[in-house]
Amino acid sequence: MQTLLGRTTEELEQMAREMGQPAYRGRQLAQWIYRRGAESFDAMTNLPQPFRAALNERLTLGRSSVAHRDAAPDGTIKYLLQLGDCEQVESVWLPYEDRVSVCVSSQVGCAAGCTFCATALGGLARDMTAGEIVDEILTLQAEHPERRISHCVFMGMGEPLLNYDEVIRAVRLLTAEVGLSPRHVTISTVGVVPGILRLAEEQLPVTLALSLHAPDDALRETLIPTARKWKLAEILDACRTYYRKTKRNLTFEYLMIADVNDAPDQAATLARLLEGLPGNVNLIPFNYVETPQGFRRPSPDRVRAFRAELEAAGRVTTQRMERGHAISAACGQLRRTAGTLRPRGVREAGRTLAELTPAGAR
Ligand code: SAH
Repeated sequence: MQTLLGRTTEELEQMAREMGQPAYRGRQLAQWIYRRGAESFDAMTNLPQPFRAALNERLTLGRSSVAHRDAAPDGTIKYLLQLGDCEQVESVWLPYEDRVSVCVSSQVGCAAGCTFCATALGGLARDMTAGEIVDEILTLQAEHPERRISHCVFMGMGEPLLNYDEVIRAVRLLTAEVGLSPRHVTISTVGVVPGILRLAEEQLPVTLALSLHAPDDALRETLIPTARKWKLAEILDACRTYYRKTKRNLTFEYLMIADVNDAPDQAATLARLLEGLPGNVNLIPFNYVETPQGFRRPSPDRVRAFRAELEAAGRVTTQRMERGHAISAACGQLRRTAGTLRPRGVREAGRTLAELTPAGAR
């Protein structure tokens, strides 16, 4: 059945007219869905009963249900949300003193295959719809009426730029309908060049975060299979274009794995690689996932030395605040332990990137 979540005010107005109602009923629907977080048509008390009945007959709202919650002592709560077809995705509630951020998923699973990432293990099941992505924010907001979500980061399951159209539609709904500032939305990518170039043209001042994780292609390819398709030179060129068109600083994420990519001379190479490209480096010590390579987290001293090297080269460097460590709040970890990670067909897990890159982004 079709869902209402995912439609803009204009589309809801159009639908209301088609159902023989005045257009303002569509605006009321948008208010109920996106601003007030209504969870059923019956809750929409200022709509005429026959209209609500007609909606109930033809459509669903499209909200998820909470399958599991996992709270850490620092206030981080990881949610496992169940979608209409019983697939499950993760969303994380990240409260800070001055703001609340939510980390959202953009795909059920992921095809990128990063060797350090828990989501990669199950392959890709399917893309999420814009409505399902917006629902993550609405559902976590409903869990915490006392605080207002102000920030949204696409750092949950999936590669947002391989689900480009639905992700951009979701961002437009989150800004126009739910009320988030585009500047408070961060899209994190493994480096999907056509997606970065398309995003540069959207007139959407979001923050772009690039998952770098290595200062050269040879090492990067051992961590991120898509690095074979898109080389660093090409990715960083796309980032330069993004900066030139949007004037938005980027964030460079650097996952640190002991004895793999955490040596001071690798920091120096990284600093040279990024010369002339504005943006902070954010260091993320590896969150433990069992891997065939036996990846480990580097010691705090090692992280400090790496950071000092970058800073000596003039690069502003931050370290990801350790949030939710106790509940394994890294990409895909909750679904592995608490969820229904179903084995995928060979074809699904083995779909190639060419197949997965949206035609318009190729
Ligand atoms: N596909 C996108 C967004 C999802 S992952 C991307 O790659 O950017 C969000 C971030 O979490 C990425 O920087 C990713 O590399 C990181 N991440 C994945 N597994 C991790 C782990 N085990 N420990 C720490 N960070 C991890």
